[in-house]
Amino acid sequence: MTQEIRILVIDDNPSDRALVIRQLQREFSQLHIQEIREPEGLAQAVAEGKFDLVITDYQLRWSNGLEVLHTIKQRYPNCPVIMFTNTGSEEIAVEAMKSGLDDYVLKLPNRYIRIPAAVKVALERAEIKRRATLLEIRLQGLLNQLKVGIFRAYSDGSFIECNRAFLELLGVDSLTQASSMNLLNIQEYYRMLQKQPSPQQQEDELQLHRADGTLIWVALSTTLNQIEGEQVLDGLIEDITARKQTDIELQQLNQTLEERVKERTAQLEAANRDLAETNKKLELANQDLEAFAYSISHDLQEPLRAIQGFSSVLLENQREQFNLERQQNYLQYIITSTQQADKLIQDLLTYSRLSRTEMPLQPINLSLLIAEILRQLELEFRQQQASVQVAEPLAEVMGNRTVLIQVITNLLTNAIKFVAPGVPPQVQVWTEKKNELIRLWVVDNGIGIEAKYQKNIFNVFERLHGSEVYPGTGIGLAIVRKGVERMGGQVGVESQPRQGSQFWIDLPIATDINQ
Ligand code: ADP
Repeated sequence: MTQEIRILVIDDNPSDRALVIRQLQREFSQLHIQEIREPEGLAQAVAEGKFDLVITDYQLRWSNGLEVLHTIKQRYPNCPVIMFTNTGSEEIAVEAMKSGLDDYVLKLPNRYIRIPAAVKVALERAEIKRRATLLEIRLQGLLNQLKVGIFRAYSDGSFIECNRAFLELLGVDSLTQASSMNLLNIQEYYRMLQKQPSPQQQEDELQLHRADGTLIWVALSTTLNQIEGEQVLDGLIEDITARKQTDIELQQLNQTLEERVKERTAQLEAANRDLAETNKKLELANQDLEAFAYSISHDLQEPLRAIQGFSSVLLENQREQFNLERQQNYLQYIITSTQQADKLIQDLLTYSRLSRTEMPLQPINLSLLIAEILRQLELEFRQQQASVQVAEPLAEVMGNRTVLIQVITNLLTNAIKFVAPGVPPQVQVWTEKKNELIRLWVVDNGIGIEAKYQKNIFNVFERLHGSEVYPGTGIGLAIVRKGVERMGGQVGVESQPRQGSQFWIDLPIATDINQ
């Protein structure tokens, strides 16, 4: 030992003290001895406390070793005390050790030699004890600083020990309160752990009702242990409310995120579908446009070629022999061809306008409208010796007046045009209600249409006959279909060759638009 050792030597007998000191000096190089001969000296020394160890005789004139021991231990519980005893007082010394005496040495000449060893052991033990105490204090401090609650409990649910965090977590003031409130249901955990194979350990996350009734989430880890032959339950408990809250929020966030992704995906898919559909329509429209352009050029070529041909012939004839009658015929051909080209262009313009212009709808009384149309067609009907029968009253529909006039006019003119030669055309018109739609029928006694052509005749330039037999542009029914579709309806035909045709158009039933 390099540090100075300070020892109180309490003995009445100067020669005994000298013997003790000599033994000590032999062993310890740095030594400070304070000799105590009377009570005052002891009182002063105890008050000052400048010693590390006490060696006292049992038999003192003014006191005895036991009293000295009590005085010292009362003030300095960790200070080692060694006592000299006579052979007779050996039992007393043993008794004294129970009260905290660290060692005793028999007061015999050959025993003095034992003193340094006893001092050494006592000091070492005191040092170990001091360190252990320090360690315990530090450990307790650490445990108290921890946010984690630590506890040990008996199987009946009573707590043996715990740290401060545990009490705070439960919201109680003492172990006794914690035991009596049974907030953790220790017996239940004890029973569960007992059924488990070794290591009897369990981790749980649960909601805990604290002493004040508030609810918190905790992570609880429990273990069964054996302490001095008795089974105890050791536990760690941690407040995880904040984490749980974050978990829940995260879960909710994920859910809304998932829903949003789903929603967006659905929107995207719908948009893609729309796009694909639009593309398809565009492609079809493109194809239609090509066919359309081809047909226009083809159909316009015919009258133009005629105009060109007859004009050249007229020029030639001017130089040659003049034949007035023939020239007039040629001029008539030219005029007819010009009219044909003009009609074609007019029809095309009407058709294309149908796609582009706005089409406001209004309730239309078909009886009144058809009566007006028939008045306009009166001359044509008379020339053809055609008769028409209208089953009054006709229904009211939602439609666009201008377009509807065009549609019905086309159907009626076709009805009196496509008849076998010499047959006076007979037309019948009536309406019928079909759910929320009105079906208008235009029925003739004409040449009829083969089933295979019935769909195509509504396309532009679809004609089933040459223009010498039945003149026309092939656009009339296309105008009928486009017009009706733009008014929210549909068209169709039922027919058999030579059995007449029954054309129909469906339009929404009239509603009071002021409502
Ligand atoms: P257009 O009358 O100028 O020839 P449309 O588009 O009106 O052209 O008619 C297309 C074709 O449908 C006609 O060429 C004709 O072959 C047929 N068609 C139309 N209406 C009738 C009808 N009432 N009876 C028989 N065939 C018809």
